[in-house]
Amino acid sequence: MYSIGEKMLLERYLKVSENKLPAKFLISKSIKVDNFAKKDIDELWEMHKNAMDEFKETTNIKDIKITHPNLLDLKIEIAKKIFENCHFCEHKCYVNRKKELGFCKIGESYYSSEFLHYGEEDVLIPSHTIFFCGCNFKCVFCQNWEISQIYFENLPVENYCKKVNRKLMAKIIEEKRAISKNVNFVGGEPTPHLLTILEILRHVNVNIPVVWNSNMYMSEEAMHLLDGVVDLWLSDFKFGNDRCAERLSKIKNYCKVVKRNHLMIKGEDIIIRHLVMPNHLECCTERIFKWIGKHLDAKVNVMFQYRPEYKAILYEDIDRALNHEEMAKALLLAKKYGLDTDI
Ligand code: SF4
Repeated sequence: MYSIGEKMLLERYLKVSENKLPAKFLISKSIKVDNFAKKDIDELWEMHKNAMDEFKETTNIKDIKITHPNLLDLKIEIAKKIFENCHFCEHKCYVNRKKELGFCKIGESYYSSEFLHYGEEDVLIPSHTIFFCGCNFKCVFCQNWEISQIYFENLPVENYCKKVNRKLMAKIIEEKRAISKNVNFVGGEPTPHLLTILEILRHVNVNIPVVWNSNMYMSEEAMHLLDGVVDLWLSDFKFGNDRCAERLSKIKNYCKVVKRNHLMIKGEDIIIRHLVMPNHLECCTERIFKWIGKHLDAKVNVMFQYRPEYKAILYEDIDRALNHEEMAKALLLAKKYGLDTDI
């Protein structure tokens, strides 16, 4: 079921979920690093590179011995420095988020809800999903805009969301692991919350796969921090060209960034979601499918649940649901480019 030719897809993720392999963040916790107090950012990255060279897949969970300071501690230290000069995503605002806000307007991390989600792909459910507030995209058609666009709409976040308590969230993750197959970090968008998420994982001491449920607009630095932490990439590939990305999500250089980030994780466990939009079959759906078919082995979820939400009424091309012809065409395109949509 989870194979393309001879290659098994999602094999490692499934084994972590079944507790047969350790999650990557636990392996990172078992890699000792030297004391990094007083090191500057270049020295920290050099240490990170050396520690990642040591990162190897451990087959036995019993071989995991947590040590300090460890690779995850080092990632947190680097993330703290990035937070003060923020370039977690390709907006690269370079603001100190302790004092000022960047494009996403996210300071402290808030979340709107966390629960066992049964509406995700079969291989994920029940998925312990944590919905962080805010986003670095301004999608005019956002299906989840009350959470994702809360800062752009200047809504009082304290009235709708709860501030994240790292230790408490870790405890909740541990408790829900009795039932959950994974912990699923989403939003809005998890990228602006990368420091918070790494700090939560520092307090998690159960084996659980980490799912990164994202628009994939991370900076290369964020991608390096996520390497050795994420077990399953759940990516949202929206646009096949920059013009649509800029018009509908107010994002520049979309294709270059999102393709680069997918290539950086080539060979890892990936599920790509593509929400098919009306009148965007040629400019977006086909181009995305063609690129995936050429470059990646990944599960692809072709999603048809688009409905005109938020500001979509102002954009004539997307101000309606899909019709049957568009759905059929999207499936034919997936087949044409050899995608594995069995998910
Ligand atoms: S997360 Fe992205 S949008 Fe937000 S401040 Fe950092 S670089 Fe800017």
